[in-house]
Formats: sequence, structure tokens, C-alpha cells
Amino acid sequence: MITLHDTLSREKRAFVPADPKRITMYVCGPTVYGRAHIGNARPAVVFDTLARLIRHEFGADSLVYARNVTDVDDKIIASAKAEGVDTSVITERYERFYLDDMGALGVNPPDIAPHCTREIPQMVSMIERLIASGNAYEAAGHVLFSVPSDPDYGQLSRRDRDAMVAGARVEVAPYKRDPADFVLWKPSAEDVIGWDSPWGKGRPGWHVECSAMIEHHLGETIDIHGGGLDLIFPHHENEIAQSRCSHGGAPLARYWVHNGFVDMGSEKMSKSLGNIVTPAELLAAGHRGETLRLALLSAHYRQPLAWTDEVVAQAKTNLDRLYRAAGDAEPGEPDAGVVEALSDDLNTPLALTRLMALDDPGALKASAALLGLLQSSADEWFKGGADESAIEARIAERTEAKKNRDFATSDRIRDELKAEGIVLEDGPGGTTWRRE
Ligand SMILES: [Zn+2]
Repeated sequence: MITLHDTLSREKRAFVPADPKRITMYVCGPTVYGRAHIGNARPAVVFDTLARLIRHEFGADSLVYARNVTDVDDKIIASAKAEGVDTSVITERYERFYLDDMGALGVNPPDIAPHCTREIPQMVSMIERLIASGNAYEAAGHVLFSVPSDPDYGQLSRRDRDAMVAGARVEVAPYKRDPADFVLWKPSAEDVIGWDSPWGKGRPGWHVECSAMIEHHLGETIDIHGGGLDLIFPHHENEIAQSRCSHGGAPLARYWVHNGFVDMGSEKMSKSLGNIVTPAELLAAGHRGETLRLALLSAHYRQPLAWTDEVVAQAKTNLDRLYRAAGDAEPGEPDAGVVEALSDDLNTPLALTRLMALDDPGALKASAALLGLLQSSADEWFKGGADESAIEARIAERTEAKKNRDFATSDRIRDELKAEGIVLEDGPGGTTWRRE
């Protein structure tokens, strides 16, 4: 029996899917305009681990896991303008980096990865229904969701109205009937990416993207909706309002699961604070992806995680010990104690403690796999040196440095790899590498 802490009811509840043969989970994915930092990697790793547990409990084919790619956004448009390229150049580059970085952390791709730019008709359809039901209105080329039209608005975040308006940092715009109203559709200028719509050329707001894609791929009510704590308000509150109002009151998700922040000392890690560490940098510094994964799982997912050198070093020490204990055993049956710990609201610290105490190598290997660990052979782990995903990450970092005309960095990465016996060859199709 799996239990999960549900943010909406503020309690830990037994996880009983609506249909155990088709369990649906949606996690808000990346906005692809920059390199993911280790705080962005936390939900990817947490929900990948939850997906592994659900598949273990309910069957390999029991879960449909969708994670979207936000590939139209004001920050993407600004990046594209700064580089003088099409937005697709930016989004394709950073989506590839995201998948490489998460792959290095042992995160399996989701079953469905819907892209905003490919689902505009679904969003237009949802907005039209919200207008028809009196929950949205058109004003000055925008379409806005009318917050006062939804008496149940605010249940997830449990904020009072003043806190909501302040927290949303909503711009006061003359066309808004209420300061809490939020954008479903906004106009695009002639030279900005946009689509024809009943309200003129424009693009969707961020919130409606998730509601429309969930409806399209998973249905009106899903089992689990996940994401970082920072998404509860306004993003998830707005998703709930849009979906519930366009589905005659049907709830959007039966369980709301949120992971805590990664912080650097006392501050939350965030791009705007400029205190980020990226998986790419950590891999480039020679850390293994699996070490970073274990470091991310070393705290309970709902707790804040302080990202320090010690946390990473401890994860490496623990992995060395686990690899030594597992040797090259074939995976057997997972240990009941590890499964029980994970089933208790994904208690990864307890699961790790139990893993460390296991003396059956086959059970150890199978139990570790539930956490996405011990995925290489002990031989590969101990042979030392950077593994392939780390080399690829460093090459990607060098390519980006070259693109930014930062030749000091690109030369440094080439020299560091050379010192480790990795020779780079630049060709028309990109950079390839070989061992000396
Ligand atoms: Zn979302």
C-alpha cells in the first residue's frame, strides 16, 4: 500500500488509483530557455522514483506519466531575440540539454512529453469553453480567467484574497475586471511567435497549457499531479480553476504531490538569485550522475535540501559502499523493508538506511533499482574516470561556451578532457570524442 501526502487535503492518504490498470500522473516540466539547475532536477528525480515505485506495485504498464515542455514563453522569446534566432533554435537546444542532463541522473523519459507549440488548438478550445461558461472574458486582445467567477478558487494554496493578489505579483492592467484575474491568451506583436485565434494573433498563457494538455492526453481527472512547491500558487491553483470550470466541476487531480526546494545555504536556489549549480557543471567537475541522484534523494522529498559539497561527497561514499556490497550480482527480489519505506510517502532517507544494511547482493541490486541506483556494474563504477554521460555533458558545455564566444572556457574544457585521455575532434556535424 502506497501512501502519499496530498497538498490539497493537507494529509497523508492511501494511494488508491481510479483505475489501477491506467494510473495517470502529470508533472509540470521545464521551460526550455536555459540550462536546468540542480533545483530543477529535484522534481524530475523525485517523480521518476515515484514512477518506478508505482510500476513496481501496480505493474510495468500500469502508469501513464506525462511531463510537458513549455516551448513558448516570454523568456524564450527574449533569448531568441538576444541571439537573433528563431525561438525553435532556443527551445530545441535547451530541451536536448535538459534530456541529456536528466538522463545522466538516471531519469527515464516520461511516457508522454507534450509540447505547448503543438497543442494550441486544444488550448483555444478550452479557452472558448471557459468564455462560454462565463469563467473567462476577452478584453483588449487578451482573454482572462475571471477569478471571482469561481467560488472554489484558492483551496490548494489556502490564501486569502489579499495574499493571492500580492503573491501572484499580478500586473495591474486596465483591461482586468479584477486584479486577481489571470491571462489565458495574450496578443503577439507582428514579429513575435503567435497563432491565429478567435481573439487575433497571440499565444497562450502558461497555466492553460497544462490544463489543456492534461485534458488531451490523460483525461479530466488524473490520479497524481506533481511539481515543485513553488508551483502551488499561482500555477497549480490556476490549473485547478481552469480545468474544474471547463469540466463541470470534476476535480483536476486526486492527489497533489509537491517537492521542497533545494537551497544553497540559507537561500532557495533560483536563477533570479543567481546562486544556481547545474548538473552539467557538476558532471563536468567529474561527479557521476548517480551520485547527484542519490544526493537529491538523500532528504525526504517534501523537506528542503541543502545542497553542499558534503551532501555530494556522502552520496559518493554511500554509492561506493553499495556497489562493493552488490558486486556483480543479478537483481533478485526487492527487499520488503525498502519497498515499505518508499511506499510511506516516498521515504527515501529511510529506504537508503535500509539499503545500506542489506547483505543479500541480489536483493540490494533490485531494491536500489527502485531508487534508480546501482544502474552500472560494480566494475564500471570502480574503474574510475569520467563516465560517458559526464564526457558528453562537458562537450555540450564546451559547445555552448564556443557559441557564446567564451573561448577561455571552451579551451579549458578541451585541455581538462585531454589530461584525462579524452581527445575531442571538431567536425561539421559537431564534436566527437575518443579515448587516447
Ligand atoms: Zn503545470
